[in-house]
Amino acid sequence: MPELPEVEALSAFLREGCVGQVIERVEVAALSALKTYEPPVESLKGCTITDVGRMGKYLTIGTGEAWLVIHLARGGWVHWRDKVPPARARPGRGPLALRVGLSSGAGFDVTEQGTEKRLALWVVKDPIEVEGIARLGPDPLDPGFDVLELAALLSGRGANIKTVLTDQSVIAGVGNAYSDEALHAAKLSPYKAAGKLSAQEVAALHASLLRVLHDAVERSVGLEASGLKSEKKGGLAVHGRAGLPCPACGDTIREVSFSTKSMQYCPTCQTGGRLLADRRMSRLLK
Ligand SMILES: [Zn+2]
Repeated sequence: MPELPEVEALSAFLREGCVGQVIERVEVAALSALKTYEPPVESLKGCTITDVGRMGKYLTIGTGEAWLVIHLARGGWVHWRDKVPPARARPGRGPLALRVGLSSGAGFDVTEQGTEKRLALWVVKDPIEVEGIARLGPDPLDPGFDVLELAALLSGRGANIKTVLTDQSVIAGVGNAYSDEALHAAKLSPYKAAGKLSAQEVAALHASLLRVLHDAVERSVGLEASGLKSEKKGGLAVHGRAGLPCPACGDTIREVSFSTKSMQYCPTCQTGGRLLADRRMSRLLK
């Protein structure tokens, strides 16, 4: 799933090719992905793109009239086309969800792989009309996001820190991969209660989270959309690396699986050597 760094890089990449261009074609192929009908998506035709940005994991494409907002969810991606295929994008079984053609002749396709179909598109007068955006917590790349703010966000929360870090209404933009990375870098167990972190642990988490995100943004921005996925994979220390040695200590990276996703951690770095219960396994053994 694209998270803050990838969406930041995608938005920077799209900004280059899109700002100042007139939208000539906008074709929705995945009708169920479109969550709004007023203003109609066709109303974007003829509008000049004035801004491309990111809010949490949402891509926002602004014209003077309306905004196209895209949430890529788990299987979504943006593919730049130097020349947009002339064929009209039609509803079908393929991965194509949206095709946008610009006055330059270039444009982009938004696709979704897999069967989950959670990619979402909105056309709104203001991005804040999108419920998920209205609920977003502070952005960790915002210069005002300091240790005190993180401490206040975690204070009193009984849920584990892994769950809290990935809750978009607490902190915007952090998902499964970068929460694994930040917790590993801060040497924190993902199961520790968020509200029970010491001041020192909050400070370590704050520093790790910002470093992990800034590093990923730095590696990603400037890359073409097509190169972002492999760049993300190459930069991860624990996420998606179960069974491989921890780059910090050499211990074997372990994994806890849930029904649709899994998280990875290093026992030596994060849990004092203890293995965390794999809930899927323990349910099977009951
Ligand atoms: Zn380790």
